[in-house]
Amino acid sequence: MSAGSALILGAGRSGQAMARLLVAGGAEPVLADERLDPAALPADLGRLPFRGGPFALDWLEGVGRLILSPGVPLDSPAVRAARAAGIVVSGETEEAFARCGVPVIAITGTNGKSTTTTLVSLLLEAQGLRAPAGGNLGRPLSQLLLEEPGAEIFVLEISSFQCETFARFRPHCAALLNLSPDHLDRYPDAESYYAAKLRLFERMESGDHLVLPDAPALDARLTSCPARRLRFAFADGGEPGAFLKGGALHLRIEGREEEILPAARLRLVGRHNLANALAATACALPFGLRGEAAARVLASFPGLPHRMEELGSFHGLRCFNDSKATNVEATLASLSGLTGSLLLIAGGRDKGGDFAGLAAALPKVRLAFCIGEAGPQIAKAFAARGRIVGDLPGALAAAREEGKDGELLLLSPACASFDQYRNFEERGEHFRRLLREARE
Ligand code: ADP
Repeated sequence: MSAGSALILGAGRSGQAMARLLVAGGAEPVLADERLDPAALPADLGRLPFRGGPFALDWLEGVGRLILSPGVPLDSPAVRAARAAGIVVSGETEEAFARCGVPVIAITGTNGKSTTTTLVSLLLEAQGLRAPAGGNLGRPLSQLLLEEPGAEIFVLEISSFQCETFARFRPHCAALLNLSPDHLDRYPDAESYYAAKLRLFERMESGDHLVLPDAPALDARLTSCPARRLRFAFADGGEPGAFLKGGALHLRIEGREEEILPAARLRLVGRHNLANALAATACALPFGLRGEAAARVLASFPGLPHRMEELGSFHGLRCFNDSKATNVEATLASLSGLTGSLLLIAGGRDKGGDFAGLAAALPKVRLAFCIGEAGPQIAKAFAARGRIVGDLPGALAAAREEGKDGELLLLSPACASFDQYRNFEERGEHFRRLLREARE
């Protein structure tokens, strides 16, 4: 480890958790954030040195390591200056991993990460293991290390942003759920985004497990990874992993094969969630998962909020909150299992989405109420079906006006939320509140 103090850039959730972990280890890190008012920091962190306002070179004086929050891109001025000065650039997850003494299961991919990560944790806990979930979802690894000293395994959702700084991070088991273009506001092209994700698998060893879907294109990207393969698939290809056979989920590992439960008994809805359930089962297999424990979890897990969450009715329309669908693929996946006439609320901050493709693939969307920055672009793609309505209240007013009894009304934006909200949760909560108020 290089001499000098650690400068943590980005004093949000990850940065704060990192600071606490370093303080617990006896260090005194410096917190830095170009936007945050230090007065807003919790009291225990308020006493740490703080650098605010636009980045200045003197922030780097006496600094041995620059630790990035995932929101900070590698081409930001601070990172470039640090590299030029020979300062090690690292990330919260990478740094926390160096202090983690138990195995890590890592889940990445473009869509389904949070659902799968949560399920893996539930599956292992049903098997009697202490296996908290976190990472890009909920608590960062730094916080888990402080709050879960009894953990036997950590189950981490890993984003491409976190992967960018990996140099030592090595999961004992890792899943690549799928890959499709996303975050094109941060990466120059889809290949750069994929390359970031694939860094997760670079240090895996032959005793580790790699969980992959039945997708030759993904296999081809990981041919050099020596870890043992576990497959999740809608058909049995004879490999170890989790698969469907005769309409039921099955598991197979080291010659042991078990039926878990009929797919129809899964509480989660949609084919994409069936894929997530299979992937989660495969991830838990190397840690002794049994069919009976898996069946209990899969029959009862209702899914996470903001992912096709049913919110009751509004003027005869059945409403769903799918605010977490922040890219075109996610919206397509959510809508794929639905039948009948749909009213879609979409828009927000464009991440390079193919809206023409979205509109063409969704003939069952009768009307698209288009919100936020990307609203005009999406409305154009939906042509006669598109309506520019500005924001969520506008969308509900339009839905009330134009909706027909029995239609579905879905907030499934295919865009990031940051143009109008702090995050997708706030967007989903706003939708929930507007619907509740309309009923009162
Ligand atoms: P992530 O954490 O990767 O964003 P989530 O589990 O939170 O994934 O799901 C977000 C949204 O992505 C869901 O609402 C759904 O629209 C879509 N989705 C979930 N799982 C999949 C999948 N396996 N394939 C494609 N889309 C999916």
